[in-house]
Formats: sequence, structure tokens, C-alpha cells
Amino acid sequence: MLIDLHTHTNISDGQDSPEELIQQARRAELAVIAITDHDTVLGWQGLYNQRDLDSSSGLTIVPGAEISCRTPSGMSVHMLGYLFDPGNSALAEIMSLTRDDRIPRMRKIIELLNGAGIDISFDDVVAHSGSAATVGRPHLADALVARGVVGSRNEAFAQYLHNDSPFYVGHFAPSPEEAIAAIKKAGGVSILAHGLAGSRGAIYSLDEIESLARSGLDGLEVDHRDHDESARASLRELADARGLFTTGSSDYHGISVGQRLAMEVTAPEVWEGILDRGKGCEVFTI
Ligand code: AMP
Ligand code: ZN
Ligand code: FE
Ligand code: FE
Repeated sequence: MLIDLHTHTNISDGQDSPEELIQQARRAELAVIAITDHDTVLGWQGLYNQRDLDSSSGLTIVPGAEISCRTPSGMSVHMLGYLFDPGNSALAEIMSLTRDDRIPRMRKIIELLNGAGIDISFDDVVAHSGSAATVGRPHLADALVARGVVGSRNEAFAQYLHNDSPFYVGHFAPSPEEAIAAIKKAGGVSILAHGLAGSRGAIYSLDEIESLARSGLDGLEVDHRDHDESARASLRELADARGLFTTGSSDYHGISVGQRLAMEVTAPEVWEGILDRGKGCEVFTI
């Protein structure tokens, strides 16, 4: 039983439409897939409207989102939320403020790039964000590739767009503690995404992650491509000590960016625990 709890569609910065993601999930023989677009629920909500009311043998979709957070010191942190009530107004407001502020933020990043002599415009980004509700740096990366400035999304991040780059600009974001509390109030389950992925920029210390557990965090994403063996071992140890869920997931954004559904997976008994704790909405099949 393959369970992948972290994926993106083109409603945020993934490359597949929600329907295409479902096709890929079937091809990968997943039993359970969480759709966790950045700061929006529109991807899985579109599929919910096409759900299969009769079938119990279909693919199980877990409603979720990846909430973009920022610590008081300005560090970027991603919080996965599962099974929260999408109608909860406080959580919906957090996501909506974040999505809105990503537009002026993108314009600022472009101004900084233009100032360094790189020819790129907001319209270039819009050409690549298409139907996305959440505009992100990967769209800008795609635009830079199309302009021939860099060869790939990863190269765009390595050269210009990473979190510690002089071209980095933040956007409105709740603190991780605020996101944990909002997810919990909405009946959901919170899992810290790729908490020790140091290649992306600054990361929490293990002590700081432990303090999130005291703030109500439910679990840690352990098996993630950006975690080496020692990061995984540290996270697993912390989770064991604090009774946190440990998940594994692909953080899939598309095949052409080198990712594969089910490249990392979550154990069935962990998924059962998350399903049992999430009270804000229900899974559905398609
Ligand atoms: P944003 O939401 O605009 O801040 O962009 C965050 C997204 O950019 C993440 O979800 C990843 O998909 C991608 N990303 C962040 N850092 C890197 C990196 N160093 N290399 C490749 N992709 C990255
Ligand atoms: Zn992403
Ligand atoms: Fe993330
Ligand atoms: Fe992600």
C-alpha cells in the first residue's frame, strides 16, 4: 500500500494539473495521495467535485496544503496541514493573505533581477504560472529558463532564487507556531515539511523543532529527497522521543523537474494515525 503525503499541482508550482496528477498517481500505483499545494486548497477541491461516491477501490485523496511560514528571524519554514476544514475562516484568511502578497513580492524579485541586468518581466512569470492560484519562485525559474538565462529550474534556484540569495524577497507569512495553531483549530494535522533540508537555506536546530512539538506540532516529514541519512536519523530520534508522526513523501512537482511520485512513502500505520487525528474534513476517492 503506497502512501505519498506531499504533492503539488499546477494550482501552485507543480507542473501537472490535478487530473494529470491523479493519472500519474494511478501509474505509480499509489493507494493514498495528499494534495498539498502551497497556500491553497483549490487543486484538491476541483477533484472533490468529481469524486467517486460509489467506489471504495479507487485512489484515496487526502485534502491538504503546504503553508508557507516565516520565523521572527526571517527564516522560511513549510508546514503541511492535512484534513483541516477548508471553510475555517482563520486558516483560509492566512492562505489568502499569503497568496495575495506573493504578487508584489514577485514584482520586487524581478526588479532586483532587472537591476542586475537580467532581462525578465512579470508578464514572463505570468506566462508560466498559468492557472496557478499561488505564484511562486518556481514559475520565475521557468521564465528564466525560457529566456535562456539558466538551463533548468534547479540552476535558477542555485544561481539566483535560493533563500539566501541577494534577490530573495519574502512575503506575508504566518509564523510556524501560528500555522500549527490555525491547522489544529481547523481540525487538521500539522507536519513540518523537509525540516532539515539545509540545501534550500537556513533551517531550524533540533531544539527549535522540539519546541514546535511543544506548540502542538503533530509530526515530522523525515523521508524527503533533501534529507541525508543523518538528518533522517536525527528527526526520527526526535519524533520517537516526542511521540510525533514521521512521514515520507515525494514533494512531487512534476516528472520533468526530476521527481517521481512514491519516491519516498509513508508507513500505513502512520497514515492510519494521521487519518484518525484529522477531524476537519474527510478523505475522498476518485
Ligand atoms: P516560494 O513559495 O515562491 O518561496 O518557492 C518555494 C518553492 O521553490 C519550494 O516549494 C520548492 O518547490 C522550490 N525551491 C525552494 N528552494 C529550492 C532550491 N534550492 N532548489 C530548487 N527548488 C527550490
Ligand atoms: Zn513547491
Ligand atoms: Fe516545501
Ligand atoms: Fe512542497
